[in-house]
Amino acid sequence: MLPWATAAEAEAALGRAMTPAEALWFRYTAAAPDYYLYCLNILFLLVVFTLAPLPVALLELRAPRAVEPYKLQPRVRLSRAEFLKCYGDVMRIFFLVIGPLQLVSYPAVKMVGIHTGLPLPSLGEMAAQLTVYFLVEDYLNYWIHRLLHGEWGYEKIHRIHHEYTAPIGFAAPYAHWAEVLILGIPSFAGPAIAPGHMITFWLWIMLRQMEAIDTHSGFDFPFSLTKYIPFYGGAEYHDYHHYVGGQSQSNFASVFTYCDYLYGTDKGYRFHKAYLAKLKDLAPSYSEKEGANGFSYAKLD
Ligand SMILES: [Zn+2]
Ligand SMILES: [Zn+2]
Repeated sequence: MLPWATAAEAEAALGRAMTPAEALWFRYTAAAPDYYLYCLNILFLLVVFTLAPLPVALLELRAPRAVEPYKLQPRVRLSRAEFLKCYGDVMRIFFLVIGPLQLVSYPAVKMVGIHTGLPLPSLGEMAAQLTVYFLVEDYLNYWIHRLLHGEWGYEKIHRIHHEYTAPIGFAAPYAHWAEVLILGIPSFAGPAIAPGHMITFWLWIMLRQMEAIDTHSGFDFPFSLTKYIPFYGGAEYHDYHHYVGGQSQSNFASVFTYCDYLYGTDKGYRFHKAYLAKLKDLAPSYSEKEGANGFSYAKLD
């Protein structure tokens, strides 16, 4: 809730006129409790989990031939019922774990200094904070994920996430409840280190989930804008991790590739890529015949 009753009071406190974005923020949030604004996160996440995976899922279900050249594991085809089951399972996790986690974590949000006031952050400030959040999350997630591939962690917890050996966007948040809770730590570490405005926090949570949905999409589209992000892993990178499954000691990072490179956990993946490239050299018609983009692990079966 903002401490000013009128826009004039807010502008007097700012010492300048509000920008159009600030005027909009003032209009819609001045009387709203901070807890309410924070809880909107739950609604945004619900929208992201429902709508972000939908275009690719519909393409796969409605026009499988058209998108097959970009499918990472073209031999794996899920039915509409399997897509719906995945979404249903994720919604169960959402309402039983993710939503309640959001509801009870408000004191931590308040404590670290995430705020709802004016002035609003500049685009540069938001971009800088989001970059920090992504880097911090990626680093911590790398180590937690790597630990979860230990015998105990995998069998008791992480195995659930790996049930999808050929992942789909809807399966990005599909995991054991304990994993959902544990991975909340790296997600929150960035905002705790560099707290910003609630808008930045909303954006962070949504962008992080959209990134996870992208990396679990099961498709590597050549026109994806994420290809321009330096060291970005993407769908093909994480798909390999799922393809190898429980034995995987490769590609642990959630967003970027540099941790796996630095700690030598991308060797299996790089060997695999080199192997595929060699296979293509030996049989140039190979990729055309398979209709794949050269990343189709299933072809090695
Ligand atoms: Zn894993
Ligand atoms: Zn995954």
